[in-house]
Amino acid sequence: MSKYPDPEKVKMTFYPMVGSVEQQFQNLLDMLLWIDVNNAAPKQVYEQLRDKYQLSHYFARDIYTVLFVSSGLITTKGGQCYLTTMGKIVLETSSPFVLLEIFEKSFAGVVGFLEVLRSKPKIKSGELIGTWYGLVKERFPKMQNWSRKTLNNQSRHRIDWLRTMKFIEIENGLFSLTESGWRFVLQNPPELIAIQKHEIIEQEKQLRKSALGDFKPFETANKIYSLRQSFARDRAFRSIVTTQYEHYCAVCGIKLPVPRGAYLAEAAHIIPKHSEGSDDPRNGLCLCRNCHWVFDEGVITVNPNKLTVMVASYLQKTDANPSIRAITKYNGNEIRSVIDIKYSPSKIALEWHSDQIFLG
Ligand SMILES: [Zn+2]
Repeated sequence: MSKYPDPEKVKMTFYPMVGSVEQQFQNLLDMLLWIDVNNAAPKQVYEQLRDKYQLSHYFARDIYTVLFVSSGLITTKGGQCYLTTMGKIVLETSSPFVLLEIFEKSFAGVVGFLEVLRSKPKIKSGELIGTWYGLVKERFPKMQNWSRKTLNNQSRHRIDWLRTMKFIEIENGLFSLTESGWRFVLQNPPELIAIQKHEIIEQEKQLRKSALGDFKPFETANKIYSLRQSFARDRAFRSIVTTQYEHYCAVCGIKLPVPRGAYLAEAAHIIPKHSEGSDDPRNGLCLCRNCHWVFDEGVITVNPNKLTVMVASYLQKTDANPSIRAITKYNGNEIRSVIDIKYSPSKIALEWHSDQIFLG
């Protein structure tokens, strides 16, 4: 007999009262919080699951294993359950996107199923697993040695998890994204999650190389990047630019970390992407979210020769209230310098921004 529950039975019994990724994610957060507060024994955790969601003992234990233990969100020590660092991150960030990112680390390739079902809705399990395997074995060379049995087991784990979290569903033997699963992939392209470190490093190499030559302000039209490559490139651009400014906002100097090691620092394109601005790091500035917005809107610019902040004159004439002063006070200040001079913002790009975007 299969060690996995019968799919139809699962549909009947898995968290029966809910129906979307958002609700299912909320259930997961509730349980994580409960575990964090109570540090209960595993048995108590699945008893809690069983009682809260009216599950059979068997399913409660299975969900405990699939959603919490295998996914690396909790660990046991001295007979008690604790949140792992990843579990804490999921709880703190409260983002299904972060959860999926973490699960992708524990179960490589899981988001590939979302990619497949986005392009091929309503397919049988054989086609789903086959297409998925073709996609992910290129990304994770280790998977090329999988036996048929391993492939079936491994894909089953991932499918179970995605079904439990309501990303995907089975109807009449055909797999598809749920309605909330569709919503999720439209807002959060799976490619963004699936990008591997080596892909970002490869793009970083290319961007660093481009920074050695003459500055080309615009992307050449014949360069077509795949969605995946362009995401990796975005991350590479962000990584180079924010590192060059040590995650400080070049205009206001704010540097704000969050516990998981990220910063409130964005890499702004001086000539924006929608104007075909290039990803050469010299077309970048590290800005906080506020300064990024006022820069993109042309409320501020950077003087191409002096590298000083210029605030649009209309704002300086306005009766200054504290929010306006929060911007106008930087007028004439020098922006922060980059660590390595060769990544200094390009004069050509800044001139373009002053001419085309700055409100003057
Ligand atoms: Zn700022």
